[in-house]
Amino acid sequence: MIRVQQLVKDYHLGDSRVRALDDVTFEIPTGALAAITGQSGSGKTTLLNVLGGLDTADAGRYWLNGRDVSHFNPIEWSRERNRTIGFVFQSFNLLPALTALGNVELPLVYRRVPPRERRRVAEEALAAVGLPHRGHHRPSQLSGGQQQRTAIARALVGNPPLLLADEPTGNLDAETGSEILGLLEHLHRQGRTIVIVTHSTEVASRAELVLSMRDGRLLAPGGGAA
Ligand code: ADP
Ligand code: MG
Repeated sequence: MIRVQQLVKDYHLGDSRVRALDDVTFEIPTGALAAITGQSGSGKTTLLNVLGGLDTADAGRYWLNGRDVSHFNPIEWSRERNRTIGFVFQSFNLLPALTALGNVELPLVYRRVPPRERRRVAEEALAAVGLPHRGHHRPSQLSGGQQQRTAIARALVGNPPLLLADEPTGNLDAETGSEILGLLEHLHRQGRTIVIVTHSTEVASRAELVLSMRDGRLLAPGGGAA
């Protein structure tokens, strides 16, 4: 599903350079549950954003579902994300002025799905994440766990085969976080490929594949440089 080779990404701040991705090579097979772990600043978010086309690497190659997407432009990426990728963020990123249903419907608005169909699909998605009766609440009226479920429903409405989650339990208490992980595992068992950035050893222990990062580099299992 995902294959990257020798990815490099630098950030420049004034005269200083930070190498956020340093010669990163790996594969994630279709249907896998993969965890990306590492200390804060090790490059996890940068890597996930590159995988989702929200950011681009300076060098290296990337194949998504067998297609070379290394040189996709922003328009090609937005089309690709629309069809194949759902994103989940630590801070939920819900629009405060919209209800839960409104937030979940938003990707369908961009896809020009007619209103009635949109509502039906969004209601189904909220039910699928365990929130069938909260559709008319705004994010501020929902608990953190409910907000993250809403965000996951939004990521799912287009039925993407790939879900990318950046510390999805980072703003939640342990018990709620564990429930959200259970939901992501459930979505994985339904056949989706899921990549989770996490500090949690619990997630890492449940993942089939662990990509451990340090200073922009991928460590081999056991801690040596890959
Ligand atoms: P993580 O998600 O593991 O905490 P990040 O991918 O966010 O790590 O960051 C990796 C490195 O790149 C860090 O040193 C961070 O400070 C730097 N970095 C990330 N984003 C930017 C940016 N927009 N501008 C400058 N430096 C950045
Ligand atoms: Mg991060």
